Amino acid sequence: MKIRRVALARFRLALREPLVTAAGRIGEREGVLVRLYGSAGALGAGEATPIAGFEMERVDESWETLVALAPRLVGEDVRDLEAILDGVETSAPQAPCARSALDAALHDAAARIEGRTVAAWLAVRRGRRARRSVRVNALLGARDPERLAAAAARAVAEGFETLKLKVSGSCIEDDVERVRAVRRTAGRRARLRLDANGGWKEEEARDALARLAPFEIELVEQPVDANDLAALARLRAESAVRVAADESAAGLSRAARVITLRAADAICIKLGACGGIRPALQLAEHAAAAGIGVFVTSGLDGAIARAAALQLAAALPGPLPACGLATGDLLRDDLAACPGPVRGALVLPRATGLGVSPAAAALARIGVGPEVEFEAGGA
Ligand SMILES: [Mg+2]
Repeated sequence: MKIRRVALARFRLALREPLVTAAGRIGEREGVLVRLYGSAGALGAGEATPIAGFEMERVDESWETLVALAPRLVGEDVRDLEAILDGVETSAPQAPCARSALDAALHDAAARIEGRTVAAWLAVRRGRRARRSVRVNALLGARDPERLAAAAARAVAEGFETLKLKVSGSCIEDDVERVRAVRRTAGRRARLRLDANGGWKEEEARDALARLAPFEIELVEQPVDANDLAALARLRAESAVRVAADESAAGLSRAARVITLRAADAICIKLGACGGIRPALQLAEHAAAAGIGVFVTSGLDGAIARAAALQLAAALPGPLPACGLATGDLLRDDLAACPGPVRGALVLPRATGLGVSPAAAALARIGVGPEVEFEAGGA
């Protein structure tokens, strides 16, 4: 099944409400949509929506990388996925998010040809079955305790078992009050996950986690600076709260260091940071061999990248903590209509490939600048 045409389009996704993290305020997301076509029509799609703080390239660099690589894909057969991905990895070592878009589009195409979902396509090759659904966490974005409690109540009523909130953006006392409000509303059975986005100094993290541990925290993502693996490892060893590496594990070589140093109890996988589904599976296997679990999260991506992350999560073996993939509702508009979570889980779409295709009308609303196409014969 040969690729006859590659189309690239830039887009901009506005958030319904800006999300405030320790790293700053996120009001909109910009990305690049990749679509592969064969002689009979659409083959597959992928998305690069890089997010700051995770060792990804900037969106202009994603675009430049994809413009450079797209002509080389024309004429390739998607069944040669492994060889094509080898070439992509060699050609664009500094652009993991652009690589993840091509990786997703190629997996989408390869799985569609076999009439399977990407998750089933991946799982079958490893002698296992894919999950039919993936448990996801609710992300509670509000700052003040009252609004947080109201959001927690809604999430629990909708069936979410894991609630995540951002911490470290203000003083520890504020975080204690916010976590207290969520725990009081959510009840004892809810899992509470925190994400500090590297906003605490080591001593602050130690103090904060000691004060937050009585609220029975499931885990804390990135309590300290991404580059301070020694501090992360010390907190892992000392703290009553389990520690997950997110920004510290952005990129395969960084994730490998986290694993070697046993610096975290779990690693948070973002496709755009590690370069796609294929390297993400390798990372998950490497982590599992060291007794470190993984979960998959979106970097506030559009529908196509979230679909790829969902397919990856569904293909992972063993126990899987709730994944951070229920972020579609945070966006005002999207690349495709995508079913949201039901009772705290995302059900895999029945359609083959990624299970979601970009809606032609979406680009008319959220596209930025002209589309660029590359075709056989040189376009
Ligand atoms: Mg995080």
